Amino acid sequence: MNRYERQMKYQQFGEQSQIQLQQTNILIMGAGALGSHVAELLARMGAHKLSIIDMDIVELSNLHRQALYDEHDAKEMLPKVFALKEKIKHINHNVELNAIHQEITPHNIEDIISNIQPDIVIDGMDQFDMRFLINEACHKLHIPWIYGAAVGSKGTVYGIDFTGPCLKCILNTVPQTGESCAINGVLPPVVQQVASFEVSELLRFVSGKGFSKKLVTLDTFEISTRATNIDILKNDQCTVCEQNIYHALNASPSPSIESLCGDAFLFRFKEHAFEFAHYFPGHIAKENSYVKFINYDDVNMTLFKDGRMNVRGLETKEHAEDMYQQLIKCIK
Ligand SMILES: [Zn+2]
Repeated sequence: MNRYERQMKYQQFGEQSQIQLQQTNILIMGAGALGSHVAELLARMGAHKLSIIDMDIVELSNLHRQALYDEHDAKEMLPKVFALKEKIKHINHNVELNAIHQEITPHNIEDIISNIQPDIVIDGMDQFDMRFLINEACHKLHIPWIYGAAVGSKGTVYGIDFTGPCLKCILNTVPQTGESCAINGVLPPVVQQVASFEVSELLRFVSGKGFSKKLVTLDTFEISTRATNIDILKNDQCTVCEQNIYHALNASPSPSIESLCGDAFLFRFKEHAFEFAHYFPGHIAKENSYVKFINYDDVNMTLFKDGRMNVRGLETKEHAEDMYQQLIKCIK
């Protein structure tokens, strides 16, 4: 029996769409809550050409809402994309999963997409500035993409093609409310619902019907779903999909210190910091070939191979600047 028989029996999908799904080159950006669920659904359904890019490792606090990962992955501090590749191998051996452990930036996103040459991109990110970057890169490179977001109990999904309306049209500017999973929390069912709608839009795409042209918003706690016809959302003055101006792609280089959610900061050092981590104050409590976990008094530092460092336990930006200066002196 064909393993995909049940989905192929659905008349509007059928054998042709199944063949198309297997041949479609799909890039998932982010292997967190949305990305991991999307990857699992697609692997089970028989999408054979998957690429997934993410820069993080599996942590215990991810497990309540992210698919496939387990306590062993968190204990071993495995990069999400490699943990995912291992799990998916056992779910469907036909999937060729291209796992990329890398940060996405304004400077590399076009190269990443150009190298993979996806037919479609799926959003599994959790930051709006990243989504605006995807919006611009996909518009510039003429690649359709599916936007998905989940915060608190609310979710949004929208399939975007070259003609728009694009993400900039519907959101206009980067929301400044600071809404994020880390601050507002997130209920796991909304993640699965958003991931499911993203995959539904992808199924419409591979079946040749095209995106639904609806902006879907849902609330997993109020138990409500709404679909807005997107034609009314097109901005005729949109800098991206009308004027081909790409502000996010042309942004200045990432700062050395970035404030993340709560008491977390992101420091950026040169790549050699990873090799010289033993010169940092504190002690290396755990390490593998991708990441080193350093304790220094009440401060916890996770240093990645590319020189990024997540720092937790610093109360103010001034504390962060002092700590950054202290650390950078150690590896000069
Ligand atoms: Zn637009």
